[in-house]
Amino acid sequence: MQMHHVAGYTGQTFDFNRLNFLKEFRSAGRGFWADVPDSDWNDWRWQLKHRITTLPQLERLMPTLTPEEYAGTMLANTKLALAITPYFFNLIDAGDEHCPIRWQVIPRLAETETAPWEMSDPCGEDTHSPVPGLVHRYPDRVLFLVTDRCAAYCRYCTRSRLVSNATGYDFHPEFERQIEYVRQHREVRDVLLSGGDPLLLSDEKLENLLSRLRAIPHVEFLRIGTRIPIFLPQRVTPELCAMLKEFHPLFISLHSNHPRELTTEAREAFGRLADAGIPLGNQSVLLRHVNDDPVVMRAQVQKLLLCRVKPYYLYQCDLISGSAHLRASVRTGLEVMESLRGHTTGYAVPQYVIDAPGGGGKVPINPDYIVSRTGARVLIRNFEGKLFEYPEAADGTPLTPPPREIEEPELA
Ligand code: SF4
Repeated sequence: MQMHHVAGYTGQTFDFNRLNFLKEFRSAGRGFWADVPDSDWNDWRWQLKHRITTLPQLERLMPTLTPEEYAGTMLANTKLALAITPYFFNLIDAGDEHCPIRWQVIPRLAETETAPWEMSDPCGEDTHSPVPGLVHRYPDRVLFLVTDRCAAYCRYCTRSRLVSNATGYDFHPEFERQIEYVRQHREVRDVLLSGGDPLLLSDEKLENLLSRLRAIPHVEFLRIGTRIPIFLPQRVTPELCAMLKEFHPLFISLHSNHPRELTTEAREAFGRLADAGIPLGNQSVLLRHVNDDPVVMRAQVQKLLLCRVKPYYLYQCDLISGSAHLRASVRTGLEVMESLRGHTTGYAVPQYVIDAPGGGGKVPINPDYIVSRTGARVLIRNFEGKLFEYPEAADGTPLTPPPREIEEPELA
């Protein structure tokens, strides 16, 4: 008797050696900065001060720049500034044109090409902004932007219209008005601090902001969205963690896209945050040349669990202007999800979402596990592609026959 299988991820050619290699933890090392004293290298302010921000600096450190990257870097400061911390720069394989870290932070000429369906504000944030720096898109929560600066700049950034101020957006959050808005809107129970990167604020400034938000009785839940522990793990000091732990419940959403970013330094930074009782979730953006590959994503999500981080969202890349060269297809995203669900720990599986273009909010996207649904039964398939029946009446009442597997002749 032959079981019927529908399309599913079989994993027959899955490369476990590559998976295990990608999951190994390594230090970013010192690279060109071997002579720098530890006290400087481990100082986040030193790292920020010594970021690579100009073409001459980049060319000197990376003589292998391609013409596409060279031209892109020349134009970067009119679109989204170039900035890479020395720590993160060490993760780039300068000898590999296809290095996944390189694609994320080195500008390319393709960024200047804008397709007709691309937008400067693909999530419609500006149209849902009642006061400068605050986005109220969902009923019970707000996005509270605190700065337009980041430790390094991601070439696909959804907020590239404002971060780094290369386009002259002139972003000025107005904390007083933002806080007052939250205070007056009793339906707001969840505030997400983002930017730019909130962890670029000094401990004192951040503490002041968090205290004022925590003092609002209807604010139940605080979140910080940050890529700092990836770009600049040195910023996650014991003092910062001790301060943050005073504001529970406080969650942190990290942003990491590739297992190579999960270094020993990053793992230690996550550990300090987790030890302060802060639940950690990770958001990845599905990117061509970076993580649009089932082996890379499986390594990424499993390695995140090793770092005490729950993979939270996998984002389809927004339709941000000049990002076509980095956007993977939805079909690829579904294949990646198919390769995770059932094939690895449920905790490791993020929710794949598309932020509906223009401001429709996050829409969950899943492979089709419901094959058909009639008045009397739901036909589902599992991760191996095997079919099962779940009986239910037209009004949704469960029926008594037990679930059964479907055999091919029956299905026909
Ligand atoms: S860290 Fe976040 S806000 Fe900053 S450039 Fe990257 S994606 Fe944009």
